[in-house]
Amino acid sequence: MEANTVPHRILIIEDEAVTAMDLKGELESFGYEVVGIADDRVSATWLANETRPDLIITDIRLAHGDSGIEAAQEILETMDVALVFLTAHSDPRTLNDAVALSPLAFLIKPYDTRELNATIELAISRHRKDASMRRLARELSASNEQQTAVKDALAELAITDPLTGLRNRRGMETILSNEWSRLGREHLPLTLLMVDIDHFKEYNDSFGHLRGDECLKQVAGTLREVSRRPGDAACRFGGEEFLLILPGINRAGAQALAVQLLEAVRSLGIPHPQNSAADVVTVSIGLAAGVPERDTTYQAMLERADAGLYKAKAAGRNQWWEAMPEDD
Ligand code: GH3
Ligand code: MG
Ligand code: MG
Ligand code: MG
Repeated sequence: MEANTVPHRILIIEDEAVTAMDLKGELESFGYEVVGIADDRVSATWLANETRPDLIITDIRLAHGDSGIEAAQEILETMDVALVFLTAHSDPRTLNDAVALSPLAFLIKPYDTRELNATIELAISRHRKDASMRRLARELSASNEQQTAVKDALAELAITDPLTGLRNRRGMETILSNEWSRLGREHLPLTLLMVDIDHFKEYNDSFGHLRGDECLKQVAGTLREVSRRPGDAACRFGGEEFLLILPGINRAGAQALAVQLLEAVRSLGIPHPQNSAADVVTVSIGLAAGVPERDTTYQAMLERADAGLYKAKAAGRNQWWEAMPEDD
Protein backbone atom coordinates (compact mmCIF):
# COMPACT_ATOMS: atom_id res chain seq x y z
CA MET A 1 0.00 0.00 0.00
CA GLU A 2 1.12 3.56 -0.60
CA ALA A 3 2.50 5.31 2.44
CA ASN A 4 0.49 8.04 4.15
CA THR A 5 -2.74 7.24 2.38
CA VAL A 6 -6.12 6.29 3.75
CA PRO A 7 -6.52 2.49 3.49
CA HIS A 8 -8.53 1.37 0.49
CA ARG A 9 -12.14 0.75 1.43
CA ILE A 10 -13.51 -2.56 0.23
CA LEU A 11 -17.05 -3.96 0.08
CA ILE A 12 -17.35 -7.77 0.07
CA ILE A 13 -20.32 -9.34 -1.69
CA GLU A 14 -20.28 -13.03 -0.81
CA ASP A 15 -23.07 -15.32 0.36
CA GLU A 16 -20.91 -17.94 2.07
CA ALA A 17 -20.37 -16.51 5.55
CA VAL A 18 -17.16 -18.46 6.19
CA THR A 19 -15.56 -17.38 2.91
CA ALA A 20 -16.62 -13.80 3.56
CA MET A 21 -15.14 -13.75 7.07
CA ASP A 22 -11.87 -15.36 5.87
CA LEU A 23 -11.61 -12.80 3.11
CA LYS A 24 -12.34 -9.95 5.50
CA GLY A 25 -9.58 -11.17 7.87
CA GLU A 26 -7.06 -11.44 5.05
CA LEU A 27 -7.91 -8.04 3.61
CA GLU A 28 -7.60 -6.40 7.01
CA SER A 29 -4.29 -8.09 7.61
CA PHE A 30 -3.05 -6.35 4.45
CA GLY A 31 -4.24 -3.01 5.84
CA TYR A 32 -7.44 -2.61 3.86
CA GLU A 33 -10.64 -1.42 5.45
CA VAL A 34 -13.61 -3.72 4.89
CA VAL A 35 -16.65 -1.45 4.92
CA GLY A 36 -19.25 -4.21 4.83
CA ILE A 37 -20.31 -7.67 3.76
CA ALA A 38 -23.42 -8.24 1.67
CA ASP A 39 -24.87 -11.61 0.74
CA ASP A 40 -27.50 -10.71 -1.86
CA ARG A 41 -28.26 -8.09 -4.51
CA VAL A 42 -30.44 -5.80 -2.40
CA SER A 43 -28.07 -5.61 0.55
CA ALA A 44 -25.12 -5.20 -1.85
CA THR A 45 -26.57 -2.19 -3.66
CA TRP A 46 -27.76 -0.67 -0.39
CA LEU A 47 -24.38 -1.13 1.32
CA ALA A 48 -22.50 0.19 -1.71
CA ASN A 49 -24.62 3.32 -1.63
CA GLU A 50 -24.16 3.78 2.10
CA THR A 51 -20.42 3.14 2.25
CA ARG A 52 -19.14 4.35 -1.17
CA PRO A 53 -16.23 1.86 -1.32
CA ASP A 54 -13.11 2.17 -3.51
CA LEU A 55 -13.41 -1.44 -4.56
CA ILE A 56 -15.98 -4.23 -4.65
CA ILE A 57 -15.07 -7.90 -4.49
CA THR A 58 -18.08 -9.91 -5.53
CA ASP A 59 -18.95 -13.54 -5.81
CA ILE A 60 -21.00 -14.54 -8.84
CA ARG A 61 -23.70 -16.63 -7.16
CA LEU A 62 -25.28 -14.90 -4.19
CA ALA A 63 -27.98 -15.70 -1.67
CA HIS A 64 -31.66 -15.90 -2.75
CA GLY A 65 -30.59 -17.02 -6.22
CA ASP A 66 -29.23 -13.53 -6.91
CA SER A 67 -26.50 -12.90 -9.45
CA GLY A 68 -23.34 -11.07 -8.40
CA ILE A 69 -22.99 -9.89 -11.99
CA GLU A 70 -26.38 -8.18 -11.85
CA ALA A 71 -25.62 -6.72 -8.44
CA ALA A 72 -22.32 -5.32 -9.72
CA GLN A 73 -23.99 -3.93 -12.82
CA GLU A 74 -26.56 -2.13 -10.70
CA ILE A 75 -23.87 -0.62 -8.50
CA LEU A 76 -21.71 0.46 -11.45
CA GLU A 77 -24.67 2.33 -12.89
CA THR A 78 -24.67 4.68 -9.91
CA MET A 79 -21.01 4.94 -8.92
CA ASP A 80 -17.48 4.78 -10.18
CA VAL A 81 -15.90 1.89 -8.31
CA ALA A 82 -13.22 -0.73 -9.00
CA LEU A 83 -14.66 -4.20 -9.51
CA VAL A 84 -13.08 -7.61 -8.88
CA PHE A 85 -14.91 -10.91 -9.30
CA LEU A 86 -14.28 -13.77 -6.95
CA THR A 87 -15.73 -17.00 -8.19
CA ALA A 88 -15.58 -20.74 -8.34
CA HIS A 89 -17.81 -20.69 -11.42
CA SER A 90 -15.64 -20.26 -14.41
CA ASP A 91 -17.94 -21.70 -17.08
CA PRO A 92 -17.62 -19.71 -20.34
CA ARG A 93 -21.14 -18.21 -20.27
CA THR A 94 -20.83 -16.86 -16.75
CA LEU A 95 -17.37 -15.51 -17.53
CA ASN A 96 -18.71 -13.85 -20.66
CA ASP A 97 -21.46 -12.09 -18.71
CA ALA A 98 -18.98 -10.98 -16.08
CA VAL A 99 -16.44 -9.72 -18.64
CA ALA A 100 -19.13 -7.49 -20.14
CA LEU A 101 -18.85 -5.34 -17.01
CA SER A 102 -15.10 -4.81 -17.62
CA PRO A 103 -14.03 -5.95 -14.18
CA LEU A 104 -10.43 -5.20 -13.33
CA ALA A 105 -9.66 -8.75 -12.23
CA PHE A 106 -10.98 -12.27 -11.64
CA LEU A 107 -9.98 -14.26 -8.62
CA ILE A 108 -10.72 -17.95 -8.95
CA LYS A 109 -11.55 -19.80 -5.75
CA PRO A 110 -9.58 -21.13 -4.05
CA TYR A 111 -7.18 -18.25 -4.35
CA ASP A 112 -3.71 -17.73 -3.02
CA THR A 113 -3.45 -15.06 -0.30
CA ARG A 114 -0.47 -13.30 -1.93
CA GLU A 115 -2.37 -13.32 -5.20
CA LEU A 116 -5.25 -11.59 -3.42
CA ASN A 117 -3.10 -8.68 -2.30
CA ALA A 118 -1.44 -8.22 -5.68
CA THR A 119 -4.76 -8.42 -7.51
CA ILE A 120 -6.37 -5.75 -5.36
CA GLU A 121 -3.42 -3.38 -5.63
CA LEU A 122 -3.39 -3.82 -9.40
CA ALA A 123 -7.14 -3.38 -9.67
CA ILE A 124 -7.12 -0.17 -7.67
CA SER A 125 -4.20 1.34 -9.53
CA ARG A 126 -5.77 0.42 -12.89
CA HIS A 127 -9.05 1.90 -11.81
CA ARG A 128 -7.33 5.15 -10.83
CA LYS A 129 -5.54 5.31 -14.17
CA ASP A 130 -8.80 4.69 -16.01
CA ALA A 131 -10.48 7.39 -13.96
CA SER A 132 -7.77 9.93 -14.72
CA MET A 133 -7.92 8.99 -18.40
CA ARG A 134 -11.66 9.59 -18.33
CA ARG A 135 -11.14 12.92 -16.57
CA LEU A 136 -8.52 13.90 -19.13
CA ALA A 137 -10.87 12.97 -21.98
CA ARG A 138 -13.63 15.06 -20.38
CA GLU A 139 -11.30 18.04 -19.97
CA LEU A 140 -10.08 17.64 -23.52
CA SER A 141 -13.58 17.64 -24.93
CA ALA A 142 -14.47 20.69 -22.81
CA SER A 143 -11.46 22.57 -24.16
CA ASN A 144 -12.40 21.47 -27.69
CA GLU A 145 -15.85 22.96 -27.14
CA GLN A 146 -14.26 26.19 -25.92
CA GLN A 147 -12.04 26.30 -28.97
CA THR A 148 -15.03 25.78 -31.23
CA ALA A 149 -16.89 28.59 -29.44
CA VAL A 150 -13.91 30.92 -29.85
CA LYS A 151 -13.61 29.97 -33.53
CA ASP A 152 -17.33 30.63 -34.06
CA ALA A 153 -17.07 33.99 -32.29
CA LEU A 154 -14.05 34.95 -34.40
CA ALA A 155 -15.79 33.91 -37.60
CA GLU A 156 -18.84 35.99 -36.60
CA LEU A 157 -16.58 38.94 -35.81
CA ALA A 158 -14.91 38.68 -39.21
CA ILE A 159 -18.23 39.25 -40.99
CA THR A 160 -19.68 41.88 -38.62
CA ASP A 161 -19.30 45.64 -38.87
CA PRO A 162 -18.17 46.79 -35.41
CA LEU A 163 -19.96 50.16 -35.47
CA THR A 164 -23.43 49.06 -36.55
CA GLY A 165 -23.45 45.33 -35.85
CA LEU A 166 -24.66 44.73 -39.41
CA ARG A 167 -22.96 42.33 -41.80
CA ASN A 168 -19.82 43.96 -43.19
CA ARG A 169 -18.75 43.98 -46.82
CA ARG A 170 -17.25 40.53 -46.55
CA GLY A 171 -20.36 39.04 -44.91
CA MET A 172 -22.47 40.79 -47.51
CA GLU A 173 -20.57 39.22 -50.39
CA THR A 174 -21.00 35.73 -48.93
CA ILE A 175 -24.73 36.17 -48.42
CA LEU A 176 -25.15 37.68 -51.88
CA SER A 177 -23.37 34.90 -53.70
CA ASN A 178 -25.18 32.18 -51.70
CA GLU A 179 -28.60 33.75 -52.28
CA TRP A 180 -27.80 34.37 -55.93
CA SER A 181 -27.13 30.66 -56.52
CA ARG A 182 -30.02 29.45 -54.39
CA LEU A 183 -32.64 31.77 -55.92
CA GLY A 184 -31.30 31.02 -59.40
CA ARG A 185 -31.86 27.32 -58.80
CA GLU A 186 -35.35 27.90 -57.38
CA HIS A 187 -36.33 30.57 -59.95
CA LEU A 188 -37.24 33.06 -57.24
CA PRO A 189 -36.70 36.83 -57.33
CA LEU A 190 -34.07 38.79 -55.46
CA THR A 191 -34.30 42.48 -54.58
CA LEU A 192 -31.38 44.70 -53.61
CA LEU A 193 -31.81 48.10 -51.99
CA MET A 194 -28.70 50.27 -52.06
CA VAL A 195 -29.22 52.85 -49.32
CA ASP A 196 -27.11 56.00 -48.88
CA ILE A 197 -27.47 58.77 -46.28
CA ASP A 198 -28.11 62.15 -47.87
CA HIS A 199 -25.48 64.88 -47.43
CA PHE A 200 -23.77 62.90 -44.73
CA LYS A 201 -20.51 64.73 -45.26
CA GLU A 202 -22.27 67.92 -44.22
CA TYR A 203 -23.78 66.14 -41.22
CA ASN A 204 -20.27 65.22 -40.04
CA ASP A 205 -19.06 68.73 -40.80
CA SER A 206 -21.87 70.25 -38.72
CA PHE A 207 -22.01 67.87 -35.77
CA GLY A 208 -18.68 66.07 -35.71
CA HIS A 209 -17.64 62.54 -36.48
CA LEU A 210 -18.91 61.05 -33.20
CA ARG A 211 -22.45 62.31 -33.75
CA GLY A 212 -22.01 61.03 -37.30
CA ASP A 213 -21.28 57.58 -35.90
CA GLU A 214 -24.39 57.74 -33.71
CA CYS A 215 -26.46 58.66 -36.74
CA LEU A 216 -25.03 55.70 -38.67
CA LYS A 217 -26.01 53.39 -35.81
CA GLN A 218 -29.57 54.72 -35.73
CA VAL A 219 -30.02 54.36 -39.48
CA ALA A 220 -28.54 50.85 -39.28
CA GLY A 221 -31.08 49.95 -36.57
CA THR A 222 -33.88 51.13 -38.86
CA LEU A 223 -32.54 49.05 -41.73
CA ARG A 224 -32.51 46.03 -39.47
CA GLU A 225 -36.10 46.69 -38.41
CA VAL A 226 -37.53 46.89 -41.91
CA SER A 227 -35.74 43.73 -43.06
CA ARG A 228 -37.09 41.25 -40.59
CA ARG A 229 -38.27 38.40 -42.80
CA PRO A 230 -36.20 35.20 -42.65
CA GLY A 231 -33.45 35.45 -45.25
CA ASP A 232 -33.42 39.27 -45.28
CA ALA A 233 -30.00 40.75 -44.58
CA ALA A 234 -28.99 44.30 -43.74
CA CYS A 235 -25.35 45.00 -44.55
CA ARG A 236 -22.99 47.94 -44.30
CA PHE A 237 -21.64 48.29 -47.80
CA GLY A 238 -19.08 50.88 -46.68
CA GLY A 239 -19.05 54.38 -45.19
CA GLU A 240 -22.63 55.70 -45.10
CA GLU A 241 -23.86 53.20 -47.69
CA PHE A 242 -25.86 50.12 -46.88
CA LEU A 243 -27.28 47.20 -48.82
CA LEU A 244 -30.49 45.36 -48.03
CA ILE A 245 -30.64 41.86 -49.48
CA LEU A 246 -34.25 40.75 -49.80
CA PRO A 247 -34.69 37.23 -51.17
CA GLY A 248 -38.01 35.98 -52.53
CA ILE A 249 -39.88 39.30 -52.29
CA ASN A 250 -41.98 40.43 -55.31
CA ARG A 251 -41.46 43.80 -57.04
CA ALA A 252 -44.49 45.49 -55.42
CA GLY A 253 -43.38 44.24 -52.00
CA ALA A 254 -39.87 45.56 -52.57
CA GLN A 255 -41.14 48.99 -53.64
CA ALA A 256 -43.43 49.19 -50.60
CA LEU A 257 -40.47 48.30 -48.43
CA ALA A 258 -38.39 51.08 -49.99
CA VAL A 259 -41.15 53.59 -49.19
CA GLN A 260 -41.43 52.23 -45.66
CA LEU A 261 -37.67 52.60 -45.19
CA LEU A 262 -37.65 56.23 -46.41
CA GLU A 263 -40.45 57.01 -43.97
CA ALA A 264 -38.82 55.15 -41.07
CA VAL A 265 -35.52 57.05 -41.45
CA ARG A 266 -37.32 60.40 -41.64
CA SER A 267 -39.29 59.44 -38.54
CA LEU A 268 -36.06 59.07 -36.58
CA GLY A 269 -36.22 62.86 -36.64
CA ILE A 270 -32.45 63.39 -36.51
CA PRO A 271 -31.95 67.12 -37.19
CA HIS A 272 -29.88 67.82 -40.30
CA PRO A 273 -30.19 71.50 -41.35
CA GLN A 274 -27.66 71.07 -44.17
CA ASN A 275 -29.79 68.43 -45.89
CA SER A 276 -31.23 69.83 -49.14
CA ALA A 277 -34.06 67.27 -49.09
CA ALA A 278 -35.49 67.79 -45.59
CA ASP A 279 -34.53 69.28 -42.23
CA VAL A 280 -33.87 65.80 -40.81
CA VAL A 281 -31.60 62.94 -41.85
CA THR A 282 -32.90 61.15 -44.94
CA VAL A 283 -31.68 58.42 -47.25
CA SER A 284 -31.79 57.79 -50.97
CA ILE A 285 -32.41 54.29 -52.30
CA GLY A 286 -31.51 52.48 -55.49
CA LEU A 287 -33.65 49.41 -56.12
CA ALA A 288 -32.83 46.49 -58.39
CA ALA A 289 -34.91 43.34 -58.69
CA GLY A 290 -35.01 40.20 -60.78
CA VAL A 291 -34.66 36.43 -60.87
CA PRO A 292 -30.97 35.49 -60.85
CA GLU A 293 -29.90 33.78 -64.05
CA ARG A 294 -27.79 30.72 -63.67
CA ASP A 295 -24.12 31.02 -64.58
CA THR A 296 -24.13 34.78 -63.93
CA THR A 297 -22.98 36.75 -60.90
CA TYR A 298 -24.78 39.30 -58.75
CA GLN A 299 -22.41 42.02 -59.91
CA ALA A 300 -24.70 43.41 -62.63
CA MET A 301 -27.64 43.67 -60.23
CA LEU A 302 -25.45 45.42 -57.66
CA GLU A 303 -24.36 47.93 -60.30
CA ARG A 304 -28.01 48.48 -61.25
CA ALA A 305 -28.91 49.21 -57.62
CA ASP A 306 -26.02 51.70 -57.56
CA ALA A 307 -27.26 53.31 -60.79
CA GLY A 308 -30.74 53.61 -59.23
CA LEU A 309 -29.20 55.30 -56.20
CA TYR A 310 -27.39 57.78 -58.44
CA LYS A 311 -30.72 58.67 -60.10
CA ALA A 312 -32.46 59.07 -56.72
CA LYS A 313 -29.69 61.47 -55.66
CA ALA A 314 -29.87 63.43 -58.91
CA ALA A 315 -33.66 63.65 -58.67
CA GLY A 316 -33.46 65.40 -55.28
CA ARG A 317 -32.66 62.68 -52.68
CA ASN A 318 -35.01 61.31 -49.98
CA GLN A 319 -36.56 58.95 -52.54
CA TRP A 320 -36.14 55.56 -54.18
CA TRP A 321 -35.42 54.84 -57.82
CA GLU A 322 -35.55 51.55 -59.64
CA ALA A 323 -33.03 50.85 -62.35
CA MET A 324 -34.28 48.44 -65.03
CA PRO A 325 -32.09 45.83 -66.71
CA GLU A 326 -32.68 47.53 -70.09
CA ASP A 327 -31.05 50.70 -68.66
CA ASP A 328 -27.76 48.80 -68.46
P1 GH3 B 1 -24.72 62.37 -50.90
O1 GH3 B 1 -26.04 62.91 -50.46
O2 GH3 B 1 -24.45 62.63 -52.34
O3 GH3 B 1 -24.58 60.94 -50.57
O4 GH3 B 1 -23.63 63.17 -50.11
P2 GH3 B 1 -22.74 62.68 -48.93
O5 GH3 B 1 -22.14 63.83 -48.26
O6 GH3 B 1 -23.52 61.76 -48.06
O7 GH3 B 1 -21.68 61.77 -49.68
P3 GH3 B 1 -20.11 61.74 -49.63
O8 GH3 B 1 -19.73 60.47 -50.30
O9 GH3 B 1 -19.56 63.03 -50.20
O10 GH3 B 1 -19.71 61.71 -48.12
C1 GH3 B 1 -19.89 60.58 -47.33
C2 GH3 B 1 -19.43 60.92 -45.95
O11 GH3 B 1 -19.61 59.83 -45.05
C3 GH3 B 1 -17.96 61.26 -45.91
C4 GH3 B 1 -17.40 60.46 -44.76
O12 GH3 B 1 -16.65 61.23 -43.87
C5 GH3 B 1 -18.63 59.95 -44.05
N1 GH3 B 1 -18.38 58.68 -43.42
C6 GH3 B 1 -18.05 57.51 -44.01
N2 GH3 B 1 -17.89 56.54 -43.06
C7 GH3 B 1 -18.13 57.12 -41.86
C8 GH3 B 1 -18.12 56.64 -40.51
O13 GH3 B 1 -17.86 55.47 -40.21
N3 GH3 B 1 -18.43 57.52 -39.53
C9 GH3 B 1 -18.74 58.82 -39.81
N4 GH3 B 1 -19.03 59.62 -38.81
N5 GH3 B 1 -18.72 59.30 -41.06
C10 GH3 B 1 -18.44 58.48 -42.09
MG1 MG C 1 -21.52 59.62 -52.01
MG1 MG D 1 -24.32 59.95 -48.77
MG1 MG E 1 -22.05 57.47 -50.16
